[in-house]
Amino acid sequence: MSKKSSGSWVESANVDGCDFPIENLPFGRYFLKSDPLKQKRLGVAIGDQILDFSTLKTCIQVPDSLQSVVQSLALGSLNDFMALSDQSQLTLRVWLSRILAQAFFESSQIRPALIPQLAVEMVLPCQIGDYTDFYAGIHHAMNVGKMLRPDAPLAENYTYLPVGYHGRASSLLPSGSGIKRPVGQTRASDGKPPYFQASRRLDYELELGIFIGQGNELGSPIPIESAEDHFFGICILNDWSARDIQGWESAPLGPFLGKSFATSISAWVVTKFALEPFRCAHTQSLKSNEPLPYLDSLNNRQSGAIQIMLEVLIQTKEMKDLGEPPHRLVQSEFSQAAYWTIAQMIAHHTSNGCNLCPGDLFGTGTLSGPTFDSAGSLLELTMGGKQKITLPNGQERGFLESGDMVIMKAYCALPNTVRIGFGECIGTIL
Ligand code: MN
Repeated sequence: MSKKSSGSWVESANVDGCDFPIENLPFGRYFLKSDPLKQKRLGVAIGDQILDFSTLKTCIQVPDSLQSVVQSLALGSLNDFMALSDQSQLTLRVWLSRILAQAFFESSQIRPALIPQLAVEMVLPCQIGDYTDFYAGIHHAMNVGKMLRPDAPLAENYTYLPVGYHGRASSLLPSGSGIKRPVGQTRASDGKPPYFQASRRLDYELELGIFIGQGNELGSPIPIESAEDHFFGICILNDWSARDIQGWESAPLGPFLGKSFATSISAWVVTKFALEPFRCAHTQSLKSNEPLPYLDSLNNRQSGAIQIMLEVLIQTKEMKDLGEPPHRLVQSEFSQAAYWTIAQMIAHHTSNGCNLCPGDLFGTGTLSGPTFDSAGSLLELTMGGKQKITLPNGQERGFLESGDMVIMKAYCALPNTVRIGFGECIGTIL
């Protein structure tokens, strides 16, 4: 059983199963639906409300040590805050936890800074300068590898380095955005000349998004021992993929237009501080060969992984029209799915001197579990579209059809620990 939240005077935060109890306090950016200027604001989610920084600073005395921090958050930009030291970020968290706690006697003063989540439209949480997608889900790499190279599913480098490619930051979309089916070049397996058409093998990929906090100077690698200092927080990420376009274009340089048409992320960034109770030992990379020293540390072995439950649900247009609820396709779990930790990804990404900037985003790679019912993409779930899945209403799916809504959820739940959630990452095929 999960532990009960320590409680907030914001009552909706104390409801069992709530994603945003006082123990979470994730950051998000939004504008008021009633604001014709759509001015971007920042806040933290608490229950079904948001504590809005721009209002907060006008209704309560902000401690001197936090004046400049709250001032910059009130301007609606998260990147400056992400660049701060752990100590400064933690100081804000401690203060927010205090003023939102049940026992806080001046809660009536702060109440005007609460905005119902229903009254806002969420946008991307920060300025994301660069986006890199890794391939850390070993079961996914294995499943896909088997389709392409049955004899040697894993490439030789896989257990030595976190494989990745540079994604496209410009097409990152907030949850709720419609996904336009991409058009592109592909070729049938018969070897005849390629053609150009709307993708017929549109897929999702269940991933987590990792936000970078403090950056590093170009030419100065981040050693694995301090890599966690550069990790800000996590969101849910759906790496939409056009398998037909991807399959034809990928040789020899990897994903390009089959991926760059859209990537959706959930609205709230759950900070590393909120994830602390869900840390666990990382044993994946010890299975075959030892990692090279620059990807290995005692701390990484002991607590480099994080236990996060993941789910994918689908609601077709027909289901929606008939009022049928979304159907859960699979469940998976981050620490079981990922061969590499966040610290290893950061250490490897910067090992050649490459600089990371506050607000940069990593995708983890598809987080499939070891079993069929934990496959993180339709490519795996339907064996490349060959074995269609049947939904409860009898509809079949090989790949995504127009009108399909894909919903990804994530949460952390352990015995004797307060459950926290990530909200949802939603996208509908137009
Ligand atoms: Mn991916």
